[in-house]
Amino acid sequence: MTGHAHKAGQFLKNGERASWHDETLWIVRQKRDKMARAVPEWESLREQASQIKQHTLSELDNYLIQFEQQAVKNGVQVHWAANAGGFNEIVSGIIKENNARKVVKSKSMLTEECGLNPFLEKQGVEVTDTDLGERIIQFRDEPPSHIVMPAIHLKKEEISELFHEKLHTEKGNSDPAYLTAAARLHLRQKFLEAEVAITGVNFAVAETGAVVVCTNEGNADMGVHAAPVQIHCVGIEKIIPRMEDLGVFTRLLARSATGQPVTAYTSHYLAPKPGGQMHIVIVDNGRSQHLGKEDYRNALKCIRCGACMNTCPVYRKSGGHSYGSVIPGPIGSILAPHTNSKKYKDLPFASSLCGSCSNVCPVKIDIHDQLYRWRQDLSEKKIVSPGKRATMKVAGKVLSGSRMYDLSGKMARWGIKNLPRMFIYNRLNVWGKGRELPEIPKESFKQWYKKTHQGKGGKNGQE
Ligand code: SF4
Repeated sequence: MTGHAHKAGQFLKNGERASWHDETLWIVRQKRDKMARAVPEWESLREQASQIKQHTLSELDNYLIQFEQQAVKNGVQVHWAANAGGFNEIVSGIIKENNARKVVKSKSMLTEECGLNPFLEKQGVEVTDTDLGERIIQFRDEPPSHIVMPAIHLKKEEISELFHEKLHTEKGNSDPAYLTAAARLHLRQKFLEAEVAITGVNFAVAETGAVVVCTNEGNADMGVHAAPVQIHCVGIEKIIPRMEDLGVFTRLLARSATGQPVTAYTSHYLAPKPGGQMHIVIVDNGRSQHLGKEDYRNALKCIRCGACMNTCPVYRKSGGHSYGSVIPGPIGSILAPHTNSKKYKDLPFASSLCGSCSNVCPVKIDIHDQLYRWRQDLSEKKIVSPGKRATMKVAGKVLSGSRMYDLSGKMARWGIKNLPRMFIYNRLNVWGKGRELPEIPKESFKQWYKKTHQGKGGKNGQE
């Protein structure tokens, strides 16, 4: 048992954490709403962002080449990686060429996706994640549970214990300012010792060959400025055509992610510093294949703001680790099955399909429609479990005819009232796990409606 429902069950065992996680993310969602409402042209910005991405994806090959040409002109060394293995080899090759052993890295979901840290560590390279949340989970040896707030599943008391063990902070002191100061001191030393700095990339501008990195802690800048060698890792979908397009995305990104008007640092890297080296590694790792699937192409518009996670009732209740994929939540549930549909077959079902994710997405990805499409695809390919397929078949029959529906309702009302509890609450009734079924009414809605609306006009009794 390794699927989403099982792992969500584990997360929910700690009721206090589950409620707190839910409430915290909802606060972030509300902050996002407030920010969005304060920008009168918010909806047109979303539309513009979506169209820029649509256009870029349709011309991706040209823009990638333009980007490479510009970057090379700026003195940057550009590398291309077809997959995760190739990417890790390229980065490790640059580190080896420079006889480096100490690397600092700012947050990058791409390096998580490719498993860069364990790959480099096996070769004796010390990699320090410098984003505070990332450093916390690196100490705990676990993956991020959220793409913007990687340690959102942890309470400050747990971080206090961790820092006491790893950084020898005062036992029991969980004051966030004190803990942050301790982390800052610890990381400062790492920045000073680093020989190579690695960053992720939020946007790569084809027109100029520059990469743009957005952080709230300035850790990407600190690493890049201090280390002689800088490596920027960028997925092919991160390209935007022109500098003037950038403003559309930066206005949307931080507001959607954390409810801030803009990230504290929006850093542009164009050329190597004097005497330094600047490398950009452009990574495909399955994205071109994804691009070829028309029904799912829109998912590549994602700017990784995390808003779909903050709003999703399933994500908020089940925690990011329950997804078992690098990127959790609604967007992760679309992306992961493209990499391995069997392994991630349950993720498109980890959704209420309420559509809230699509409503908040700053680049207007049709997230819930794609989740629904995935369910159909997986079912057609017989990848979903036989039990689920059989249940859906029966449900399809029951729901498509009023006679069957009435009869089933009658049987269910009688059964729930009269059958022993073990017949109702067993492993087939997943709804009954951890919650009681609602009280069963004596009659169906249809019966009640007929009774109460008889003679009040209209063929069906409508008033
Ligand atoms: S799918 Fe949309 S809302 Fe979700 S992370 Fe990507 S851009 Fe943000």
